[in-house]
Amino acid sequence: MPSCQKCHKKWSWKQTFKRSFTLGGGMTCPYCGEKQYLTARMRKRSTIIPFIIGALIMLANLFFGPSYVSIFALLALLPLVFIINPFFVELSNEEEPLW
Ligand SMILES: [Zn+2]
Repeated sequence: MPSCQKCHKKWSWKQTFKRSFTLGGGMTCPYCGEKQYLTARMRKRSTIIPFIIGALIMLANLFFGPSYVSIFALLALLPLVFIINPFFVELSNEEEPLW
């Protein structure tokens, strides 16, 4: 779980999960109220996820033949991505440029 770069307090899974849905503008620390941003590394990673899911769907089609079952199975995995995501969140004090 990430910790605030200002007050160095660890965010709980629930706090991180809730904040990961606020797009742009940063996330407010529940302890010190300072704005925290996802690191550029994290944000780059999150742009890759749709490609990984797309690749998995194509792989599943290769192995099991084109069927909707594999697509539904992968869609069922999507909530898992959100559940796991808070464990990998990294915070920074400033909004880092992507490139
Ligand atoms: Zn803080």
